[in-house]
Amino acid sequence: MTTVEAYLGLGSNLGDRERNLASAVSMLDERLAAPVILSSVYETKPWGYADQPDFLNLACRVETGLKPEALLGAAQEVERLLGRVPTFPYGPRAIDVDILLYGDQVVDTPELRVPHPHLIERAFALSPLAELAPELLHPELGVSIRELLERLPRAERDGVSIVGPLLRR
Ligand code: ADP
Ligand code: MG
Repeated sequence: MTTVEAYLGLGSNLGDRERNLASAVSMLDERLAAPVILSSVYETKPWGYADQPDFLNLACRVETGLKPEALLGAAQEVERLLGRVPTFPYGPRAIDVDILLYGDQVVDTPELRVPHPHLIERAFALSPLAELAPELLHPELGVSIRELLERLPRAERDGVSIVGPLLRR
């Protein structure tokens, strides 16, 4: 089986945020039948809509045999199982699981865009990703993740602070 190195971005700002992240990681472990390598957990000021709790975010690397659409299906199943209910764009959520990168492939369909279209403007996605893969090149821009993070305005980067390793419980 050929596998691809994909990166996911996880976030939570409702309920027991750390438990939500840990449960999502366990479910991804099971569904992808492959080890999921984790960044540290980061705490982040909410984006877009300020009047909601701060987020916890992390990134993970998976070696997956799943095609991008099937990987999105697994991510959305995890969101459903953890009780995510639709609110509004950038609104509060128990869990968000996004595909940030899928090898160097570019996907552009109504359901799925990879690289994630907002990756390059969000420190909460770039900071944990830079911990796992600083030299990885963004497939469309040819710029490293580290460089993309450094290019963000200071105020955006300062909205994200490292908390520590995820407690797998
Ligand atoms: P966001 O994560 O930007 O806050 P949502 O989690 O509500 O938004 O996702 C909205 C839709 O985005 C999903 O229904 C999904 O089909 C679509 N989508 C497009 N590209 C991606 C991606 N790379 N990862 C996850 N979802 C994506
Ligand atoms: Mg999402």
